[in-house]
Amino acid sequence: KLSKREEEEAIRRASALEQDDVGSLRKVSRQEYLKKREKKKLEEIRDYIEDEQNLFEGIKLPEAEQSELRNKKQIYELVKKRSQEDDNINEYRMPDAYDIEGGVNQEKRFSVAMERYRDSKDGDKMNPFAEQEAWEDLQIGKATLKFGSKNRKQSEDYNLVFEDQIEFIQGEVMDGSDVGHDDDAIQEEEEKSMAKSAHEKLLADRKTLPVYRYRESLLEAVENHQVLIIVGETGSGKTTQIPQYLHEAGYTKRGMIGCTQPRRVAAMSVATRVSQEMGTKLGHEVGYSIRFEDCTSDKTVLKYMTDGMLLRQFLGQPDLKSYSVVMVDEAHERTLSTDILFGLVKDIARLRPDLKLLISSATLDARLLRFRSDFQNSRKEVSRRNKFTKAPEADYLDAAIMTVLQIHEEIETAEEILKQRTRRLGSKIAELIICPIYSNLPSELQSKIFKPTPEGARKVVLATNIAETSLTIDGIKYVIDPGFVKMKFYNPRTGTESLQIRPVSKASANQRAGRSGRTGPGKCFRLYTCDCYNNELDDNTVPEMQRTNLANVVLSLMSLGIDDLLNFDFMDPPPSEALLKALELLFALGALNKHGELTNVGRKMAEFPLDPMLSKMIVASDKYKCSDEIISIAAMLSVENSVFYRPKDKQVHADNAHLNFHMGHVGDHIALLKVYSTWKETNFSTQWCYENYIQVRSMKSARDIRGQLEGLLERVEIELVSNPGDLEAIKKSITSGYFPHSARMQKDGSSYRTVKHPQTVYIHPSSGLAKVKELRPRWVVYHELVLTSKEYMRQVSELKPEWLVELAPHYYQLKD
Ligand code: ADP
Ligand code: MG
Repeated sequence: KLSKREEEEAIRRASALEQDDVGSLRKVSRQEYLKKREKKKLEEIRDYIEDEQNLFEGIKLPEAEQSELRNKKQIYELVKKRSQEDDNINEYRMPDAYDIEGGVNQEKRFSVAMERYRDSKDGDKMNPFAEQEAWEDLQIGKATLKFGSKNRKQSEDYNLVFEDQIEFIQGEVMDGSDVGHDDDAIQEEEEKSMAKSAHEKLLADRKTLPVYRYRESLLEAVENHQVLIIVGETGSGKTTQIPQYLHEAGYTKRGMIGCTQPRRVAAMSVATRVSQEMGTKLGHEVGYSIRFEDCTSDKTVLKYMTDGMLLRQFLGQPDLKSYSVVMVDEAHERTLSTDILFGLVKDIARLRPDLKLLISSATLDARLLRFRSDFQNSRKEVSRRNKFTKAPEADYLDAAIMTVLQIHEEIETAEEILKQRTRRLGSKIAELIICPIYSNLPSELQSKIFKPTPEGARKVVLATNIAETSLTIDGIKYVIDPGFVKMKFYNPRTGTESLQIRPVSKASANQRAGRSGRTGPGKCFRLYTCDCYNNELDDNTVPEMQRTNLANVVLSLMSLGIDDLLNFDFMDPPPSEALLKALELLFALGALNKHGELTNVGRKMAEFPLDPMLSKMIVASDKYKCSDEIISIAAMLSVENSVFYRPKDKQVHADNAHLNFHMGHVGDHIALLKVYSTWKETNFSTQWCYENYIQVRSMKSARDIRGQLEGLLERVEIELVSNPGDLEAIKKSITSGYFPHSARMQKDGSSYRTVKHPQTVYIHPSSGLAKVKELRPRWVVYHELVLTSKEYMRQVSELKPEWLVELAPHYYQLKD
């Protein structure tokens, strides 16, 4: 029996040459060889199973043998399924946890372990912990496999690196003392060498990841195929390692390697990690690019970015010529942008045979298989359905509708309550380190979740579904899954979008459970019944494409020159009702003319990485001579609802402070503007923020966003004009974008009814208008709807009904 490594070596040698049917030698690829070998193995297993069955027909086998047979069958099914999928393959696959030893019989290992624990106790008395212990053993076994405990050569590698590291530290320290006897210098040198040894450790860690074993064959596959689908479980190293392998193999000499992530946090955190592994400064060789934040430079060769940013890149550079490799990562997430990218990259691959395209996913779903065969078929097509304009007039636009909705309100509340309760328990319990993580958590706080937990303490990570697959945190033992997810849902009938709390899908629930016990024993506590899991949860999460407002995407595709949307190569075409609704909205906003063509206004709107209504509001501010104020409001709206700070113990103080911003006018938009401009007057003072219960972090990011919007104004030739006194002009600009979001007060004096598609809505309690009932205007325009216990309007301002007819005559008409 060969060791894994020896076996691989043998294959490598053998695979170079193979005898064909006529007896002559021919060269075959390793891939092909492996496939054949697998088929052969498959036949052997099948024969074996058939033999066994025939032999023992009618005889009851002992449990152990039955179980072995069952396992063989399972393996057989698995391999059979795979080899069917493998025909006409263009795919590369990493093993999942159950397959890590090439199909080892985990269940058997488990039962053997059970036996051992049973034996160790006297008599028949069963060790009550046997099951747990056996299971732990199994898990530990699985985990240590990663480090090559079964594989002498690998573990030697690991040790060697470790020894080097110790020598290295000594060397450095001695060098340091030679230079000077100054304590500081020694300390500095020590720090440097510590950092260096930490780096060595990182390099060693890289080799322990499951993907490392596949480095060579992966590179070979990339060399031989233009498009590759990579499937490997979360945490196996796809995102952090593969781009580095390609870089090491020289792919970055011809252009950048771009890797997309569905989430901002993931893009930042992965880039940070990879830059550490490469020993470079973040933003130099390795960088990231997310909306409103570009951390790259001329040196950058590995660029991690949100899928929305790659879409934007398409608009400026239709052939993606600055890239040599594009990796569409986390494809299983099915965000809107990733789904759209699928359609676009397929074209690009045909256009640029030198571009390598990797699609990676934690699961191999039907869509990926379809993509594969689609791609193979579409290669043969000569004409291209989608035309790209050579030099797009409006070359930027964002389709980055964020998938993951911020649930940081809940996370922060949970954090606070946990802190209070643990404080009350005092020294009765061990230290609990609480780490929240959600998509717009500032990056300096993000790294906290990866820090090792000190001895005797426990770490709890409070996460949105970002931790489902995008981020891997090692050492998680327990997962608590409440079984819900917050998602934006769009109602094509009313054209309204709202944030809703929905049960998760089975796929999500399984991913969540999989976060525990990756590197040791683990458990998942599901806060719902088994029955609910079996009968109520959907199998898969509804792809964003099917449940979102498409206006943004339609606008980006149109400015790419793709007019025939009904025939665009969507992976799963969105409901045509939603497409039509999107066209209708863009028409109402003046972005399209009645022939369905992009207008000047539309082209300008497309330039802003914002929701079309928000971009329209900015474009309209040109007419009302208040662009300066409007971009401040737009920036403040973009930092979401995290401007006003209301600590539990100082709510009255905070509310009083906030009231100042609402005085003398009616509306949250103007209040946001006042907060921004007053902060600016204090020269962006942090102290001022504390005094006024304003979140300084949110303000700083609003300032950044505002800066970028200012740059974009220049691009679309809108002059920056300030007109702070004319509140009516400001409100009219807002209404020019948000007229579809208008509502009128009902008789009860507190609820409202939306004007266009009547439904009852309420002012969100966080609104300035919610506090004083008498102040509530009869007509309002709102930024968004949020569905919790009721349908709430968030960010609400007064509206004059005549504006609706004036600004959107094609949308609203006066009743006689
Ligand atoms: P995949 O993309 O296959 O899910 P990744 O490449 O993201 O896997 O992660 C591989 C491993 O790298 C993880 O198991 C984790 O140990 C480590 N890792 C990734 N990101 C970080 C980070 N920001 N800090 C520390 N470790 C990380
Ligand atoms: Mg990943």
